[in-house]
Order: sequence, then C-alpha cells, then structure tokens
Amino acid sequence: RKSVVRITTGSQALDELLGGGIETLAITEAFGEFRSGKTQLAHTLCVSTQLPTSMRGGNGKVAYIDTEGTFRPDRIVPIAERFGMDPGAVLDNIIYARAYTYEHQHNLLLGLAAKMSEEPFKLLIVDSIIALFRVDFTGRGELAERQQKLAQMLSRLTKIAEEFNVAVYMTNQVVADPGGGVFVSDPKKPAGGHVLAHAATVRLMFRKGKGEQRICKVFDAPNLPESEAVFQITPGGIAD
Ligand code: ADP
Ligand code: MG
Repeated sequence: RKSVVRITTGSQALDELLGGGIETLAITEAFGEFRSGKTQLAHTLCVSTQLPTSMRGGNGKVAYIDTEGTFRPDRIVPIAERFGMDPGAVLDNIIYARAYTYEHQHNLLLGLAAKMSEEPFKLLIVDSIIALFRVDFTGRGELAERQQKLAQMLSRLTKIAEEFNVAVYMTNQVVADPGGGVFVSDPKKPAGGHVLAHAATVRLMFRKGKGEQRICKVFDAPNLPESEAVFQITPGGIAD
C-alpha cells in the first residue's frame, strides 16, 4: 500500500491548515481571483517537492502543464536559493509543457504518465485545469460535451495521483455566473461545476489581503476543518 507524502507549501500556517502540506494520492485544487497566488504556489511547490522528505519535501521530480503561459523559470531561481538548493538542478527536474487546446492537454497527460512510470515524480501541476475548456467550448449548447471531456481529464488525473503516488495541484478560475442567468460583478464561484467539485480531494479558495498578504480558506475537504490561513508571496516564494 502506498503511503501519503505531504509536501510543504513554504508557509507554516498554510501547511498546518492542510494537515502538513499538499498530499500525494490526492488532487488539490486552488481557485480564486486573479493574482491571488495560485501560480506562485505552483512555482514554490516545483521547488519544495524536490526537497528531501526530512525537510518536508517529496524527494521527487515535477511535471508542469501550463495552459496560460504563466510559468517563469526565472522565478524558480530565488525560490530554490531560499530552500538552499541549486537552481540549475531544480530546473532540470521540472518537466514543463505548454498546452494549447484541451486535447493537447489530455495528450500531454498521457505522455507524462509514461514518464512517471520510469522516473520518480512526486508532483503534477495543471495551471489551469479549466482555461482551455472555456476557450474550446464556448457555446451554451456545448456545455454537456465540455463537462464530459473535463470529467475524462479529471479521471486521468486521479489515476495518475494513485498509480504513481503523486500530488496533483491544479488551479481553477472563478466565474461570475451563479447559474439561472444571474450574473454577479464579484466572481466567487469556482468554474467546472459538479464534475470538478467531485474530482478535487481538497478545494482551496484563495483571496487577496493587504499588500503581498494572501488568505487561503478550506472550501471543501473530507478531513480538514473549514478554516483559514494567512500567507505571503515573497521573492523566495510562498512564506508566512
Ligand atoms: P494567480 O495565479 O492567482 O492569478 P499569481 O500566483 O500569479 O496569481 O500571483 C501574482 C502575484 O504574486 C503578484 O500580483 C504579486 O503580488 C506576487 N508576486 C509575483 N512575483 C513576485 C515576487 N518575485 N516577489 C513577490 N511577490 C511576487
Ligand atoms: Mg495564475
């Protein structure tokens, strides 16, 4: 039986909220407004996953699927330095792929799964899970098909998490449509509907605080209290 590994987020408060960190064998979803820190957490996890387990890392490689073009290798450098790691070596252990359509995104996952059977990976990032679906399926009439394809992709992610004892960290967008033709100006609802809600093991809601301060709330998780943690975005990544 595989045992859960918990990977540090870089923030003690956030780790405590999560019961120790981002878990393998599970899908962790972060949704929230623009600039709330979802991608910055992805960058930090790229580094912390490579730390030895004695330093609350995962001692493994990272796979990164980028659908929004927001991965910055340059950001990895100060984060690696903060954790006392060699930036070049850290970058070498991040397998990066940019996806341009939802089909491309799905095919990349298949390729990564093949790689994971050969090398020790501990984290798969999908930033974001939904963006390409929202581009590729625009009409109301396409919603059912979109949700079906999304479900297929999420089931692939679940399988990867379980087969390779990997943590899946995916980001999600917020939408301004609570349904029933009602629109609100302040988007708060995660996109993806029930399909996404059921697939995510841990759902986290991010929002902005003062300055570089950010707040993370447990939105839905089977064994975590519904509480909040405050963290900061620093040059060295996510911190307290
Ligand atoms: P999201 O993915 O949720 O839209 P990001 O994770 O990209 O948001 O967060 C963007 C924010 O991260 C920026 O607005 C800025 O506040 C902060 N940030 C980005 N880079 C740095 C850095 N080098 N040092 C400190 N803060 C940074
Ligand atoms: Mg982002």
